[in-house]
Amino acid sequence: MTNNIVIGGGISGLSFAYFTKKPYILFERSNEPGGLCKSIKEDGFTFDYSGHFIHIKDPAVKNLLEKLIDQKLLTVKRNAAIYIKKSFVPFPFQANLYYLPEKEKQDCIDGIKKRKNIKIYNDMPFIDWANAMFGAGITKHFMAPYNEKLWNCDLKKLTAAWTAPFVPKPDADSILKYAYEKNENDYGYNSSFYYPAENGCGHIINGFYKQLKNSIIKNADVSEIDYKNKTVFTNGSYFRYDKLISTQPLPELVKMLKNAPDAVIKTASKLKWTSVRCINIGIKYKKEIPANIKGRHWIYMPEKQFPFYRVGVYSNANPKLAPKNCYGLYVEFSGKDNVFLNCSDTIKYLKKAGMIGDGDEILTANIVDMPYAYVIFDQNRQKAVDTITDFLNSNGIYTLGRYARWEYSFIEKNITDAKKLAERPEFK
Ligand SMILES: Cc1cc2nc3c(=O)[nH]c(=O)nc-3n(C[C@H](O)[C@H](O)[C@H](O)COP(=O)(O)OP(=O)(O)OC[C@H]3O[C@@H](n4cnc5c(N)ncnc54)[C@H](O)[C@@H]3O)c2cc1C
Repeated sequence: MTNNIVIGGGISGLSFAYFTKKPYILFERSNEPGGLCKSIKEDGFTFDYSGHFIHIKDPAVKNLLEKLIDQKLLTVKRNAAIYIKKSFVPFPFQANLYYLPEKEKQDCIDGIKKRKNIKIYNDMPFIDWANAMFGAGITKHFMAPYNEKLWNCDLKKLTAAWTAPFVPKPDADSILKYAYEKNENDYGYNSSFYYPAENGCGHIINGFYKQLKNSIIKNADVSEIDYKNKTVFTNGSYFRYDKLISTQPLPELVKMLKNAPDAVIKTASKLKWTSVRCINIGIKYKKEIPANIKGRHWIYMPEKQFPFYRVGVYSNANPKLAPKNCYGLYVEFSGKDNVFLNCSDTIKYLKKAGMIGDGDEILTANIVDMPYAYVIFDQNRQKAVDTITDFLNSNGIYTLGRYARWEYSFIEKNITDAKKLAERPEFK
């Protein structure tokens, strides 16, 4: 009997391997599994590929992860804020105008009162959506500058199709109410999150890997797929498959297909995405953790004076991620062709923002580049994904995960999608 083949040992590929009842081989190009969910241990610090906090709705997923790591997950109540004009506005910005300086607050209040009543639809331009939902002031002070940095594209070309689970939408009355009084309500899909009690997000990966290692081949970079003969090539050998499950980014998968139809190649060439650089820094404080980051898990940085879009503090989510009297930071830059900053320039900006204290000692720093980070939701995306996926499926190739399905997904969805695929009739 021919095996199924899985390309990629990130959370998606590992989850599929865990759930499938059919024999399979999994090829992972790296020397360790995990993809973007890996952790890095350095000088007593544990870093992830920027904040990888786990948001779970389905109790079965939580049970599975706890079973795999043989440990309860920590539950952490989110403490996130937006840094603007030296003030910290709790996330979500639009439900916490109370914390803004007076001028910016008034702009936001005026904007929500003067909002035009226009029809809102899923794939309208993001900038129009933001103005229609939240008014000109909130758009000017947060929605536009932050999302320009994050998506690194024209906000008229980005659609609002990705916003549904990620951007809380308080109604106009609540937005106004909480311009005048503090808001104690929880908002959003991540008002609290889960995280392993030790070893970072990668602990989850280790949990999967322990169960699956006999079927995983590391350092195996799949370089070509002959879909007509159902064969993959890796490290100079070829392997026949019955079904192929690919978790690698969709444009890379198409490039790898031997003699792919021109229409598929052309469609894939239109897909757009951003890359992210994460700089991880381990620091020993002189007196105490800087007040600007104390207790905070992540901070959105919309202002142009800072080149990064977000700063996070791993050790505030789990103190075990840093040695005693130390804190571990991550800093995220987004771009495609942009030049990202190096560690020492990033540190200068963090000092300017009061996020590294005077006299604090840098113990370690590293750079993690993620060539595929956020899929850009433009008008072309859904049609292109459907065209390519239909072609792949009709040739026994199935896509799975954030980059193969070309979507804005996260760990829980990657796991549940893998389970659903493994349970489809063709995999029984
Ligand atoms: C900046 C950032 C922050 C995030 N934060 C969170 C968060 O807080 N919470 C959350 O739930 N999610 C978060 N995510 C999303 C999360 O990282 C993804 O949903 C998840 O890692 C996707 O896993 P995957 O297995 O689909 O893909 P990947 O992690 O990309 O894994 C794909 C694997 O395939 C391998 N591979 C690729 N090509 C080949 C080939 N040709 N041959 C062999 N192997 C190959 C790669 O080496 C890799 O190991 C974040 C993502 C980013 C970019």
